[in-house]
Amino acid sequence: MTPTGRPPGRTRHTRHTGHHAPDSIPHPGHTPGSVLHPGTTRRGLAAAAGAVLLTALAACSPGRRTHGGPAAPAGGTGTPSPEERAAHWGYEGGAGPAHWDELAPENRTCATGRRQSPIDLGAAGTLPTSGGFTAGYRPSKIRLSNTGHTVQADLAAGCELIVGGTRYSLKQFHFHLPSEHTVKGRGTAMELHLVHRSSRGDLAVLGVLLTAAARGGSPLDRILGEGLPTTPGSSSPRVLTVDPGTFLPRAGGFYRYRGSLTTPPCSEDVLWIVHRTPMPVSERSVEAFRALFPHNNRPVQPRNGRTVSHSR
Ligand SMILES: [Zn+2]
Repeated sequence: MTPTGRPPGRTRHTRHTGHHAPDSIPHPGHTPGSVLHPGTTRRGLAAAAGAVLLTALAACSPGRRTHGGPAAPAGGTGTPSPEERAAHWGYEGGAGPAHWDELAPENRTCATGRRQSPIDLGAAGTLPTSGGFTAGYRPSKIRLSNTGHTVQADLAAGCELIVGGTRYSLKQFHFHLPSEHTVKGRGTAMELHLVHRSSRGDLAVLGVLLTAAARGGSPLDRILGEGLPTTPGSSSPRVLTVDPGTFLPRAGGFYRYRGSLTTPPCSEDVLWIVHRTPMPVSERSVEAFRALFPHNNRPVQPRNGRTVSHSR
């Protein structure tokens, strides 16, 4: 099926209507397919700019054979490639968010960017809006991967997000603990990111705040509750069929703003749509994820005068 094709049997799980559609967004998120993985090949200067994007795409993608562990650099020179250096970011100490820009030249935007993510979504300045979207999702087969930074599921073509006439294809989803976005200074137990890319390469991320509930039953509990891949670079043997539409709140509106990747190289500009209504997941699911990733959230970044819109 082509990225713009509409598969038979598709159901529209959510339809948010708004007034005005946002322009398409140029840029990468944590993302898409391993086909774009930069691999270990030494790249020339001419490819450097493209490598920024490719590194971004690889940051959260599976199959990161050269990024998942302390394997010796190819060629035995002892000098890590830019990709290898960039891969050694984390959430603590010298590799943590405060130092991401120092780890590789392509991470400069992490420190110098003016439209970085995540942000606090509830501060004054939020305006009534604009910009509905349609998530045309359908049941899809997934296998979970441990990227070393999160648990991620890649998807084949078939799930679409339509914003302002632009079609984005759902490439992958992954999790953060605790949430990256906050509302009036308050975060939640976890956050789900569904990463989409248009045929032009523009990125849009749907964010869903996740709260811990005593009782399970969320569709996400099937994913998080058991059998998570524990080793960086590994994948779960389980193949699950999930409908990402069931991950989304059915009401409550959303926030929308323009931001960045929340992982190195922190590239701008990404269209963010974050649902206002959290979804519950079981405490067991939260603890299962926490056992692998005690925390994998970038702190909130300055708004720098950006407008955050919210739907009515
Ligand atoms: Zn994310």
